[in-house]
Amino acid sequence: MSTDSAAATHAPPPDWSLVRFPVGCPRCGTDLHGQSDVTCPKCALTFDWADLVPVDELISSTCGYRLFGLTVDRCPECSSPFTWEEALLERQRRKLPLLEYWWKSRFVRSSYRTWRMTLRPRRLWRTVRLHHAPRVMPLLGYVLLNLVGVWLAWISGFLISQLVDAIYEWWVFSPTAPLLDTVFNTLTGMRIGAYGEGELVLPLVTWMCALGLSLLLFTQSMRRLGLKLHHLVRIWAYGCTPWLLVTAMSFSCCVNIESGWIYPAWTQNAAVLFMTLCLWWYMLSTTWSIRQGLAHYIGMRHALGVAISAQLIAILAAMFASIVPFLLR
Ligand SMILES: [Zn+2]
Ligand SMILES: [Zn+2]
Repeated sequence: MSTDSAAATHAPPPDWSLVRFPVGCPRCGTDLHGQSDVTCPKCALTFDWADLVPVDELISSTCGYRLFGLTVDRCPECSSPFTWEEALLERQRRKLPLLEYWWKSRFVRSSYRTWRMTLRPRRLWRTVRLHHAPRVMPLLGYVLLNLVGVWLAWISGFLISQLVDAIYEWWVFSPTAPLLDTVFNTLTGMRIGAYGEGELVLPLVTWMCALGLSLLLFTQSMRRLGLKLHHLVRIWAYGCTPWLLVTAMSFSCCVNIESGWIYPAWTQNAAVLFMTLCLWWYMLSTTWSIRQGLAHYIGMRHALGVAISAQLIAILAAMFASIVPFLLR
């Protein structure tokens, strides 16, 4: 079913008498307490004991004292109280700079670093592993943050294009008039708002939802083996966001060039071509990212086929959603 490359190191099973926290299969959650085999009896995932019971990495967050083996819930070195849950979470935070773990204390920095990591899915899904427990609410928040970014990019693209339009008009039709006046008049007379929100938002949100639902559908066989929903949410969130903001920005600029009557025809054609390329790139990168997640993160076979199928269903749903406003008119 799965090949976990980390399992090649084969750390010995822990001394179970000293393990005072629940140890479950990272994929299906089956209780592994007392087991010595490195394969899950339910879902056949191969894992490494060093990931599941990180004996040397469970340390006091205040003084760094090694906690494993303690029978009390207080650090003997600095006497601050601890829970095993916190110690395990703290270890994940040290390993991964993701927003999932850092949203409370380093929101901006971890959002940026999460985005940077998701741009390279191959590396991402070799760094983020099943035993790094996903946190659903911050993941959904991350998607929402990206959608807010798309909306801001759309609005700002519209505002910038008003300025560009005015300067272009000045350059072509009345270059003798003072430029500063033109810029000032444009800035004071700017309209906030963008055309086509309905045409943009509805297909985008439909595409996102359809992508998540079709992933759910195609992983049914793995769900029967115990695959948890939060792993899928993670693949979905990190799969559909990486190039979203960049695509939205280029779209909002190009839409305004394409619809501006003052520009020569070749710029309008170039804008359409650029938008098409951006859309293709976005769709291909999303499919590839999801493929990497399915293959390397949850260890699914035929991951590319599943990713392409899910993407096609999502695109069809988005295309349908984009004609709904016209049908209702
Ligand atoms: Zn399992
Ligand atoms: Zn301590």
